[in-house]
Amino acid sequence: PAPLAEFDPEIYNAISQECHRQQTHIELIASENFTLPSVMEAAGSVLTNKYAEGYPGKRYYGGCTHVDTVEQLAIDRAKALFGADHANVQPHAGSQANIAVYTAMLKHGDKILTMRLSDGGHLTHGSPVNFSGINYEVVHYGVSPETGQIDYDELAEMAVREKPKMITVGASAYPRTIDFAKMGEIARSVGALLMADIAHIAGLVAAGEHPNPVPHADFVTTTTHKTLRGPRGGLIMCKEEHAKAIDMAVFPMNQGGPLMHIIAAKAVCFKDAATEEFKKYQHQIVLNARALAKGLIEKGFELCSGGTDNHLMVLDFRNSHPELSGLKAQRALDLANITTSRSSVPGDTRKPYYTSGLRLGTPAVTTRGMTEAEMPVIAEAIADVLNNVEDEAKITATREKLLALAARFPLPYKD
Ligand code: PLP
Repeated sequence: PAPLAEFDPEIYNAISQECHRQQTHIELIASENFTLPSVMEAAGSVLTNKYAEGYPGKRYYGGCTHVDTVEQLAIDRAKALFGADHANVQPHAGSQANIAVYTAMLKHGDKILTMRLSDGGHLTHGSPVNFSGINYEVVHYGVSPETGQIDYDELAEMAVREKPKMITVGASAYPRTIDFAKMGEIARSVGALLMADIAHIAGLVAAGEHPNPVPHADFVTTTTHKTLRGPRGGLIMCKEEHAKAIDMAVFPMNQGGPLMHIIAAKAVCFKDAATEEFKKYQHQIVLNARALAKGLIEKGFELCSGGTDNHLMVLDFRNSHPELSGLKAQRALDLANITTSRSSVPGDTRKPYYTSGLRLGTPAVTTRGMTEAEMPVIAEAIADVLNNVEDEAKITATREKLLALAARFPLPYKD
């Protein structure tokens, strides 16, 4: 059979150009990372050929001996990594992990108390255009306007008033440490289930850089591709008493055949996440985020909650750069080879397509080997672009500087 370059040059070229883009741009999307070549090898393996509906030891297809080995390793490694009773490694993505928990435990119309999207929550936490907002009654908590941090007292009062069946905690754009112990107390005090969605911070949790929700939450869901630096995918962990309900909710309720090549890649990722090297990497992510936040504040930017404890920060343009929307900022930075994602900010009056904020994260640049020494250079580049969005010469000069920076920290991929 012909290799990809010969058989399908259009796709081959697009992949090759994407590889070049990743090599030459400064990646600051907080939910992205550069996974290991060994993870990519597993994800690109013959396991993509295999059907394996069911679970290790109880499949609905023949020939599952070796994929059973793979899935059991992934399960055992995930449990050991996070200290969980039970792990389901089959969810195709983070959204599917959340759907499975909801469908396992909730009935149509049940009430969930979740974090407001503009305050950092995810679509699957009750957005009206998502299955979660369509199927369940949603009440939102958010951050305090004064501190930009979760207001646990308000949340506790809401829980008493609203009596939700489930509370969710975890976010896509929250720069501060989450008090999972307190969330567990609040949930238990009103007889609600607690689901912690650690999609963003899973790597920090695995490395001990952020408190672990496993002892406090009934369910912990995550993606495997953000700070955890594995393949795109999802994972659910839960207490033993809910294991059967969760497994049923993933298969057969919400999914068919598991993606065995991705499960193998998840197993490789969990092995990596248990190493000392990975712990150092996660620590450096946090140091880099702090250094980048400091650099941006020194350049006159305002950050939601005033800073960061984790891997991300959210610039709030409303006071410092009222002329900038998140969309305008993101597009200007794109021209200078800085890749970011715009974000709503608490109380945002701009629509979610435009936004008044920009989310930045350090997992990807840290994987390239950058440290606190490079963060002021990136902060300066961001300021140079955002203070001069119409100035083509300035943007070109900034891009040249960043091309040189990226070249000093090559990725282990070939174009
Ligand atoms: N939960 C949170 C907090 C997220 O940030 C995300 C992804 O951005 C998800 C869930 C969903 O993950 P996926 O995009 O893999 O469906």
